[in-house]
This record gives sequence, structure tokens and C-alpha cells, in this order.
Amino acid sequence: MLAREAQRVADNYLREEFQFRSRDIADRIEKRLSLYQQVLKGTIGLFAVNGEVSRESFRTYINALGLLENYPGIEGIGFSVVVPPSQKDRHVQQVRRSGFPEYDIKPPGERDIYTSILYLEPFEGRNLHAFGFDMYSDERRRAAMAQARDSGQAVMSRKVTLVQEVESEVQPGFLMCLPVYRKGAPHDTVAERRENLVGWVYAPFRMRDLMRGIEGTRTRELDLEIYDGDKTGPENLLYDSNRGAEPVGHDPLFKHVSRLEIAGHQWLIEVSSLPLYETQQRVDRAGLILRGGISISLLLALLVWLFLDDRARTLQAADQAMRLALYDALTGLPNRKLLNERLTLALVKARREHGMVALLFIDLDKFKPVNDEYGHAIGDLLLKEVGVRLQHCMRASDTMARVGGDEFIALLEDIDGSEGAGKVAHKILHALTQPFDVSGHRLEIAASIGVAIYPENGEDQTTLTKSADMAMYDAKNSGRSTIRFAAKRGVA
Ligand code: GH3
Ligand code: MG
Repeated sequence: MLAREAQRVADNYLREEFQFRSRDIADRIEKRLSLYQQVLKGTIGLFAVNGEVSRESFRTYINALGLLENYPGIEGIGFSVVVPPSQKDRHVQQVRRSGFPEYDIKPPGERDIYTSILYLEPFEGRNLHAFGFDMYSDERRRAAMAQARDSGQAVMSRKVTLVQEVESEVQPGFLMCLPVYRKGAPHDTVAERRENLVGWVYAPFRMRDLMRGIEGTRTRELDLEIYDGDKTGPENLLYDSNRGAEPVGHDPLFKHVSRLEIAGHQWLIEVSSLPLYETQQRVDRAGLILRGGISISLLLALLVWLFLDDRARTLQAADQAMRLALYDALTGLPNRKLLNERLTLALVKARREHGMVALLFIDLDKFKPVNDEYGHAIGDLLLKEVGVRLQHCMRASDTMARVGGDEFIALLEDIDGSEGAGKVAHKILHALTQPFDVSGHRLEIAASIGVAIYPENGEDQTTLTKSADMAMYDAKNSGRSTIRFAAKRGVA
């Protein structure tokens, strides 16, 4: 029974961890793409300042960015210029004379409008194949370019095969482009934007190279698939972390699908667990909870247990199983279920004795950046430390519970109104704003705290909880690191 309970708790933990990792992956991809969007915007600045930009200036600027070292996955940054048919011949002659006697706009043929990749830095290797390419002649590229032109915003294209892809290892790719308008000319309306368009600054991406630069996306435990648009299917597949080598007949235990909206475009990100994650991690976790999580006390309990008779043994086992089901595995604090049970009892008692009960909703401020900067493991350790400090702020009759990622709830019984509750809230805020030392990192966080009091802010569990929650949001909205009391009568 104990083993089964441990397994169940372990599975829950695993599910949560899976969700966390999946969201984290999607987050990292989104952050990376928005960073690249910023890089393009910076390049636009070059045109905004200078109007016409020479090949030399463009090269100097892009070289200074250090694309290869700093922005993996970007093949280069280019400038595609608009060439009206009437100026095509002159344009081609001009570029030829500037040192490229072979230059031409590709593909050949008559079109209403031409564009040409005039600059593409670094101007070497694969990128040379793109020189002179008319991206507007290709349907998918044209769609993105037109959308960028009309909106004035960065736009990501659909899945394309880059013109640079002439070697053996062909990868799916995409482009991101931003319009460049004539310096000083208005571009507030769609008509003006079309009228004053000079060209596009753009970046071609190779999907696998891009993903290689994003930490945590290549693992043998999880399978990550990215689809262009909002549907799965081989034609939309942009990236598959294990390149279609899914184990035959494996039905993933966990799956997480999220949609990413970026630069006017959508991606669908699907993460599934692989057998390695499901089995190894699962056994580990169960073991961890049994061995590590409550080691000493468990050992003692087991010793006692060995000396008990059968009936008592069953009760003991049930008790240990209860522990696993009612306490948070990371911090050892009561979980939401236990908190709710205690709150029910506290309210019954307060009603009978005309007493008061306070509920404090505590959500850490800026906790996510800790994960982002130092990794999930350090985030976990910080949460544990937070748990310890919070517990220190409590009296024996109070309950401090962890109810979600960085959310905690304190239940205070026998308080003397909002003043007493306020004191505890201040104590908590003070405790959490002292710097933490986690594995040698000095971490500073804070918390937003919402306080609700029975019976003033709610006479039943649901109303009271809602009041505390709303007060917490109020604290967040007031700039964080602060305490807010619920409005007089609960729900506003
Ligand atoms: P805010 O100031 O608005 O509260 O923002 P925040 O950065 O604190 O982030 P928010 O409260 O919106 O989200 C909490 C984050 O905590 C989300 C998730 O990335 C992270 N998280 C959730 N559970 C865990 C966990 O068990 N371990 C770790 N390390 N991080 C977790
Ligand atoms: Mg938070």
C-alpha cells in the first residue's frame, strides 16, 4: 500500500514536472525568437538613421553583432530591396559595376514587381546563393513580406526551404522580415506604407541550427515537435527533436501542446514523454520519495512498524500514505488538500465560538526570472528555503501551505482581527525580502500578499478564498512587494 501510494505521488510529481519542462521549452523558444526580432529591429535603426545604407556600413554593423557566436540559428541578416520593373536594368547594371559582374535578379522572368537580396551578411558560404534572389517571387515569402509591409511589424514566414540549402543536409527553415520605409516619408496608413516601401531587413533561419542553440530542447527523455501554423501533420513539421525516431508502438504517458504567437505567426509546440523519461524518472521519483524525502523519520517509522502487530501495522501504513498525499513533496509543507480540510474545520470552530480566521494569499514576486537565470533546480532549492522561512513565521496553531508553483497560503486561527493578521503578513514580507543564499547565489525576491478575514470578508470558504485571492492580485497590481486587505464584503 505504501509503495503504491508513493508511486501515485511520484506520478503526480512527474506529471507536474513534465508540465513544467514543457512550458519551459515553449518559453525558451519564444524568448529566443523575440530576441531575434529585436536584432532585426536594431538593423532597421541603421536605415532610419542613414536612409541609404552602403554594403560596407551594412557589413560593419552586422559583423559587430557577432551573429555566429551570439545568435545561433540565424543564417545571416540581409536587406532585400524593392526594384520597380522600370528600374530593373539600371539596378542590375549598377550592382554589376560595383564589383559583381555576374549579378542578376533570380529567378528570371517578367514580374510586376521585383525584389532582390542585395546584402546578406556574412557574405560567404551558403549565403552567396541567396544574392540577387527575388523572395517576392515565392508565394510563402511574399505572404510574409506583404504582411510586414502593410503592418509595419516584424513577420515570420511559413515553413520554407532556404535558397541557401544547396548542400546535402537540407533543413526546414523560415524567415523573419521587417519593412524598411523611405527615410522621412510617412508610413502611418497602409497606403503610405505601400507607397514608401524601400525594402525589407530580414533573417533566414535553419530550424535545426536554431533549436541547437536553445537549451533544454534536445533530450532523449522528451520528444519535441514544432509545427508551422496550428495543425500537426508532416507537411507542417518544422522540427522533430528525435527526427521521427519515435519508439515503435510507444504511446506517450504525457503530452503537452502549446501555441506560440510570434511576429504575426503561429507555431504549435508538442512535447511528449519518451520511455526513458517515463520509466527511469518514475522509478527514481518513487524511490526518492520513499528514501530521500522523509528519510530519517521514515526509517524510524519503519523500525517501529516492524515491531507492531498486523492491525497496527495497517494503520501505520495508512498514516504514512496520508503524509504523502497531504504534503507538498518539495517543501514538506501541507498541500492544498490539507489546507482546505483545516480551513473547513477552522471555519466551523470560528462560527461556533464567534472567533475570527485569517487567510493570507502569498505569491512570490519575480520568481520566474530565478528559474530562467539559474535553472529549475536552483528555483526548487529557493522554494524550499522560502518554505522554511514561511514556516518560521507561523505559530503552532497556524497552517502554512504550498498550493502551487510559487503560491502559498497561510491560515491563521484565533486572531484578533485585521491588526493581528497584518502583523503576520508584515513578518512574512520581511522574511521573504531578506536575500537568500542558494548554492552560492545571492537571490532577492519579494512577495505580494492578500489578506482576507472571516467573517468580515467572507462567511464561507469559497467567498473567503476568493477575497484573499483578489486582495493578492490587488497587491500585484499595486506594484508588488506589498500587502493588501480584502474589500469589506468579499466579492466586489
Ligand atoms: P509575478 O511576480 O507576477 O508573480 O511573476 P513570477 O515571476 O513570480 O511568475 P508567476 O507567479 O506568474 O509564475 C510562477 C512560476 O513558478 C511559473 C513556473 O515557471 C515556476 N514554477 C512553478 N512550479 C515550480 C516548481 O516546482 N519549481 C520551480 N523551480 N519553479 C516552478
Ligand atoms: Mg509569482
